Amino acid sequence: MEIPPSTLPDNRFSALITDLLPICRSITGSGVTRTLERLQQEIPILIREVPSGAPALDWTVPNEWNIRDAWVKNSRGERVIDFKKSNLHVVSYSTPVNATMTLDELKPHLFSLPAQPTAIPYRTSYYNESWGFCLSHEDLLKLEIGNYEVVIDSELKPGFLRYGELLIKGEVEEEILITTHLCHPTMCNDNLSGLTVATLLAKMIAESSPHFSYRFLFIPGTIGSLAWLAANEDHLGKIKCGLVLTGVGDPGSPTYKKSRRADSVIDRVMEYVLKSGSPKFEIRNFSPFGYDERQFCSPAFDLPVGCLMRTPHGEYPEYHTSLDNPDFIKLESLQDTLRICLRCFELLENNRFYLNLFPKGEPQLGKRGLYQAMGQQTKDRQSLQLAMLWVLNYSDGGHDLLDISLKSSLPFDIVTAAAKLLEECKVIRPIPSAHAM
Ligand code: ZN
Repeated sequence: MEIPPSTLPDNRFSALITDLLPICRSITGSGVTRTLERLQQEIPILIREVPSGAPALDWTVPNEWNIRDAWVKNSRGERVIDFKKSNLHVVSYSTPVNATMTLDELKPHLFSLPAQPTAIPYRTSYYNESWGFCLSHEDLLKLEIGNYEVVIDSELKPGFLRYGELLIKGEVEEEILITTHLCHPTMCNDNLSGLTVATLLAKMIAESSPHFSYRFLFIPGTIGSLAWLAANEDHLGKIKCGLVLTGVGDPGSPTYKKSRRADSVIDRVMEYVLKSGSPKFEIRNFSPFGYDERQFCSPAFDLPVGCLMRTPHGEYPEYHTSLDNPDFIKLESLQDTLRICLRCFELLENNRFYLNLFPKGEPQLGKRGLYQAMGQQTKDRQSLQLAMLWVLNYSDGGHDLLDISLKSSLPFDIVTAAAKLLEECKVIRPIPSAHAM
C-alpha cells in the first residue's frame, strides 16, 4: 500500500462539514439518508436498510422518525422557539404535538443548561415516547406568563434504519474496520469530525492498493452497530482489528481508548504511532461506556476494536450543545487525526511475522551479500545492522515486527527495512499473520 500524504487541502474538510452541518440527523429518518447521499458524492458507499421492528441482538429497530417543522409561538404569534433556526431546538424523536398550553404546562417539556446560559442542549428520547424543546437558559428566562401555541410536525411510524457501508477490497480478505456514528444533528466535533475524517480516509485508501481490506461503516450510534453485528455475526472472523472514530476535531490532543483485549495489534500499533508522532496524547484502558466500541467489544464478540478521539466525550463544555459548532473544531486537529489513522494503517500493512530460516546460531550474513546490500543504505546503517540481529533473533513466528521494534527500541521503519533486506537474502521468510497469531 502506498500511503498517500496525509495533508489534504482544508477545503476538503470544510466543504463536507458545510454541507452536512444543517441536516437534522437522528438514528433514523431522512436526515440520515441525505447525509449518506452527500457522502456518496465522495465514496461509493452502499445504503443498507433494516426495517423497524427487526431484532438487533437484544434490541429492536425502532420506528422511523421524521420532522418537517416545530415551533413555540407566544400570544403575539412570534416564534420564541423555532426548529428552522436550529434543529437542536427539538428533542430528537419527539412525538407530534399541536396544542395550546400555559407556560406552566409547557415548562416540563423545556430543557436548558443553567450553567451554560447561552448554549442549546442536545437531547434525545429514542426509546421512550415523549416530546420536548431545548433552548438556551437565557431564552427560557425570557418566556412570559401566558398561552403558547406548541407544534411539532413530526412523524414516528414503521420505516427503516439506514446505515452506510463501504468495503475496499485489498490483497487479502482480512479486514480493518473503521466505524463512525452519523446520528447527531448540527454538531461538529460530535460527530461531523468523525464522518469527514472517515470519508476522506476511505477516499485515500480506495485510491491506494491496500494489502488488507478496509470496511467503513457510517452508522447511527448503538442501534446501528447492534444491527450491523446482528447481520454480520458469521463475518466477524475476518476482522483483523478496527477503530471507532469520534470527536476527532476539537483542539485537544489525541486520545486512544484501547480495545477490551488491551494488547491486540491495533492497541500496540496505536500506542506506537502516538508515542512516536504526537507530542501530547493519552491512552486509556477499555471501559464499557462511550461509543460503539461497547458493542464491538461486548464479551461474546470481543473484537480488537479501539476508539480514537481527541478530548473524550463529556470532558469539554461544548459537548452535546450548540457550542459544538464550526468555531469549536480545528482543521489542524482533523488533519492530525487523518495523519494518525494513515500512519496506523501503514504500520498495520507493514507489520508482518517472519520466520528465521537459520535459527541455529547466527546465520553468516557476509556470505549472503547482506553487508553489500546494506552498503547502499548510508543513513542509519548502524541501527539497520542492529535491527537485523533483532529481527533474526525474534523471527520465531511468535513476534511481529512491531514487537521487535518495541523490544529493541528501534524505529519500526528501520526494523521493517532490516526485515526486507533479510527477506531479499532469503534468511527469513514471511509467514501469514493468520497462522502466526
Ligand atoms: Zn454524542
